Amino acid sequence: MSLRPLIAICGTTGVGKSKLAIELALALSQRYSGARIINADAMQVYAGMDIITNKVPHEEQCGVDHLLMGFKSPGEQYVVGQWVKDAMRLINETHQRNQIPIVVGGTSYWIQHLVFPGRLGVFDETTSEVPATPSTNSKMSENLIRAISALPQELHTLYDNLPEQPPLASEDPDAASTLHRLLTQLDPIVAQRWHWKDTRKVMRSLKIIKESGKLSSEIILEQSETEPPPRYRTLFLWLYARPEKLDPRLDARVDVMLEQGLLREVDELIREAAAAKQVDEARFATSSDYYNSAPIDYTLGMYQSIGYREFSSYLIEYQNLSPSLEDKPFATAVERMKLSTRQYARKQVKWIRNKLLPAVYAANLNSNQGENQPREIVSAYLLDATELGEQWSSEVEQPALEITRRFLQGSTLPVPITLSSTAKEMLTIAQKPINPEAILEARRRIVCHTCTTDESKPVMIEQGKEWEAHARTKRHRTAVARAKKQLTGPPGDK
Ligand SMILES: [Zn+2]
Repeated sequence: MSLRPLIAICGTTGVGKSKLAIELALALSQRYSGARIINADAMQVYAGMDIITNKVPHEEQCGVDHLLMGFKSPGEQYVVGQWVKDAMRLINETHQRNQIPIVVGGTSYWIQHLVFPGRLGVFDETTSEVPATPSTNSKMSENLIRAISALPQELHTLYDNLPEQPPLASEDPDAASTLHRLLTQLDPIVAQRWHWKDTRKVMRSLKIIKESGKLSSEIILEQSETEPPPRYRTLFLWLYARPEKLDPRLDARVDVMLEQGLLREVDELIREAAAAKQVDEARFATSSDYYNSAPIDYTLGMYQSIGYREFSSYLIEYQNLSPSLEDKPFATAVERMKLSTRQYARKQVKWIRNKLLPAVYAANLNSNQGENQPREIVSAYLLDATELGEQWSSEVEQPALEITRRFLQGSTLPVPITLSSTAKEMLTIAQKPINPEAILEARRRIVCHTCTTDESKPVMIEQGKEWEAHARTKRHRTAVARAKKQLTGPPGDK
């Protein structure tokens, strides 16, 4: 059966993704039975807070369905696995209506996991979700059986009774380091990847081992042998604007958001968090079931958004909802939000180049092997949205419509790097190491024995740049000098 089509519009904030999606959807309604837009922005899934989340106002949606938008409450956690499930259901429904699904959003890793199944990585740092077991047999691996039977009693008991929530290293360092010790005994390769204080990641790895019955290293080897094909025949449209033009646009957008009432939304979020906290406390004061009913986590959901982070502490301290830029702390918060927004945009581009494009290219390599038809299952185009105004139509809208038309007809598509010099530059990537050994070797943490004072709570530093930086710190050099002295003794002392 041939794969059904999907259009995915990705790119940073402020490049016009929503605008292009609506333009495409309207154009498709003339030729096909229309299109539906499925939101892939992790913040726009939340209800209300339209300014912070930058949702398309209803009147600008032009009657096009916008799905998975504004349906979660601000403190609710909504993770990639749930989104993928919801998106798949809606895409299926859209296809059944003979319409075209258009997935739009800046959360590229959601889109990536939607199009490329089974790649919710063992080392994925963006989620605390446990990936579904990729294996076909559910038997426990020999290596794991051996490792478990070699566990000391204390760790064995811990493995059998893993806590629901990971302990916080700041509150219970002993529990945190014991958890890491358990992972080291079971799966030293993945344990080297996480700092013992990073209990969320340590816990996730332990859960993966427990639920899959395999070591992380075994899962990686297995995944590399059985790369699943993409779920949809996908056309990626990457809207890109050069940083020197995008940055001022992003800055200006922050100013507009403030004018529109960003502070009121932040204030509302603070109040909701405070009210919910009181309810939680009252509930748990009378409940013996504290650990089974996890309170809403106000470090998650909307509370992670850019804007909330920068202005919540300002508002809590000064309680001024209409400050001017003369107000120093306020001006500082504004600058911080502008900086965060620019940094976030950089991160989004990095993700597309370092993760999404390699997956796109790999999928086509795999699908073309030994087949007669070299047609690509997944294509990625960059559309240059650096210039707005008149150029939008010629650089973005028209090429997007033309590529989409050909894509849906199944006719020959243009070569992506021929579209523009920017496309050529940004779509060309250095091949990343994708062999399993390289994945396992990368980004290990090493223990600095010189700086470690308590072996159960070691000082762990990532190899490479971080380690080099550590070796230059005063703390480390002092410790090295002290260790040398102890070794050789004071001068003259023979
Ligand atoms: Zn050191």
